[in-house]
Amino acid sequence: MLDIVTFGHPSLKIKSINVTSFDDELKNLTDMMLEIMYAAPGVGLAAPQIGINKNVFVFDVGDGPNIAVNPKSIKKKGKINFLEGCLSLPGYYWEISRPEYAKIECFDLQGNNIHYEGDDLLGRVLQHELDHLKGKVLLTSLDRKTRKQALKDISLNGFPGKDV
Ligand SMILES: [Zn+2]
Repeated sequence: MLDIVTFGHPSLKIKSINVTSFDDELKNLTDMMLEIMYAAPGVGLAAPQIGINKNVFVFDVGDGPNIAVNPKSIKKKGKINFLEGCLSLPGYYWEISRPEYAKIECFDLQGNNIHYEGDDLLGRVLQHELDHLKGKVLLTSLDRKTRKQALKDISLNGFPGKDV
């Protein structure tokens, strides 16, 4: 099984590419991603977080496993602060402001067009995972001062939440 890569890894910084075949390889990838996400444990995991730059993420906010292939944002609404963490920045949490509601369009494993939408945790997870596919990590959503402090903390302490 692949490891979750942490902040600083190149695959977290680049834009991922679309999936073109809805085949066994895709099924195996998402099975593995779900396994890694549950083991972490986390509520969402994007493929770049295991070093694979494909437009795929998985999530479970309490209603079972969900898979999003080639997702794109189609609607956002409102604004809310939320304490947000990331499996690639283990041990760190920041209060981050984002739209409260998000709706995305994507494909399932069979290539059917589906969508996910929600507010609260689901809205947050959808936006967070989409960011990963664009090569954005949580730190880019922080204001300058908080980001500076975060980078300092990471260089001094590493990731205190890793392997706990
Ligand atoms: Zn993350």
